[in-house]
Amino acid sequence: MIRYPYIYNQVLQVYRGMDSISFPICTYDILAQLPNCRALTYQEFASINQCTVRDVIILCESKSGCTHYDIANDRYLILWNEDCADNNVDGRRLWTKAHELGHVILKHLPLVAEPMLAENGFNNLTAPEFEAEADQFAATLLCPMPLYETLGIESPSDIKRVFGLSKEASEHRWSEYVKWTRYHRKTAWENDMRRVYLQKRIAN
Ligand SMILES: [Zn+2]
Repeated sequence: MIRYPYIYNQVLQVYRGMDSISFPICTYDILAQLPNCRALTYQEFASINQCTVRDVIILCESKSGCTHYDIANDRYLILWNEDCADNNVDGRRLWTKAHELGHVILKHLPLVAEPMLAENGFNNLTAPEFEAEADQFAATLLCPMPLYETLGIESPSDIKRVFGLSKEASEHRWSEYVKWTRYHRKTAWENDMRRVYLQKRIAN
């Protein structure tokens, strides 16, 4: 079961912790809120460890990103691939970083015995749910539906332009939004998201 209220509240707390909010979201501003979390690109990690990027992909069991958790010291290391090959466009790299931050902020890693939570090859039964939760965190963080009206979002291409998602993710997010507007009832969370954004948005 995906814990939607928990995820939504964690995104709200992240927004509250930011000095200012502008889109596309800067993931480094969020990392700055997490003193026990560092992020390196695969390329930086390979150079530090004198190995190849291919070795890092194998270590992470993912071409896009992974998060390592050091249980003894309660420290996180996010690794993400900055290589644009294989259609790893800006929007996809942004999504990967937000997804990995989701694993950290939603505290998935201390819950599992395996210290590496990668996209592939992870056998824990709860992993598919954690993956879905990290994706939901990324979607809400990068592209929050309560702000669509304020930001004049009226199409998938608006999502791509304003929030910096990939074409595929923008189209998917738009179809979710259409369903959301049809069935949802207003919540306190939506009002809080709007309020915090209006307080912290960078004036043009
Ligand atoms: Zn993941």
